[in-house]
Amino acid sequence: MSSSEFQISHEGVLIRYRLTVGRSARGVVSLKIRPDGLVLASVPPRVHASAVHRLVREKAGWIAGHLGKLAERPAAGAVHPALRYEDGEQHLFLGQTYPLRVLPHDKVRDKLQMADGELRFFSSQPDAAKTPQVLYRWYARELEALITREIEALAAGMPWVTEMPTFRLKLVRSRWGSCSGRGNLNFNLHLAKASPEAIRYVVLHELCHLAEMNHSERFWRLVEERMPDWKRHRAYFKAHGALLMQA
Ligand SMILES: [Zn+2]
Repeated sequence: MSSSEFQISHEGVLIRYRLTVGRSARGVVSLKIRPDGLVLASVPPRVHASAVHRLVREKAGWIAGHLGKLAERPAAGAVHPALRYEDGEQHLFLGQTYPLRVLPHDKVRDKLQMADGELRFFSSQPDAAKTPQVLYRWYARELEALITREIEALAAGMPWVTEMPTFRLKLVRSRWGSCSGRGNLNFNLHLAKASPEAIRYVVLHELCHLAEMNHSERFWRLVEERMPDWKRHRAYFKAHGALLMQA
């Protein structure tokens, strides 16, 4: 038995598959999707590998649909190994990945800075336990400034917003934003890793709750009038939620 891995992209979804030459009782290629998203293609000995590549391409839409469903499940966290906060590791910020650089430095108190496409963490005593704290403090500062700007811009077109709402950032794994009965807004700190357009959608969504505290037709009309393509952003969170909430 031998195996090898391949990958193709289908409408932006990466499909990884492993070709396994093995015995198949029916002499046909079978496809199976593992919980971690890897597709196992079992090929009978006399079937040529090209037949498998063709089959995977033919079934790409079906596979991508299944991968999307896997990503929606809370257990999809297992797809993404826990972050280690080590030098060179890739970290998300506003929908892009940047390498984290852990840079020992004599004189600087723990400080995180974005420069030349790198997330630079300067510390006199680098320590994997405090790196995430410093990174998330930086995320919070950046996200707070961004959400403040979004609220100001969006509220201008919302007659029901008469004074600037205040908001808090919370590190939770349950939801992206919420609005209390008193009109207090909360946003998930993990949003710092989402794309700016997706963040705008969450801010818009919560601001519309200040007019409609439910998900009624009228609520979605308020959202749609201001962001006709909002469904795209909701799909983005469904597809990437587990990755964005990875810590
Ligand atoms: Zn809502």
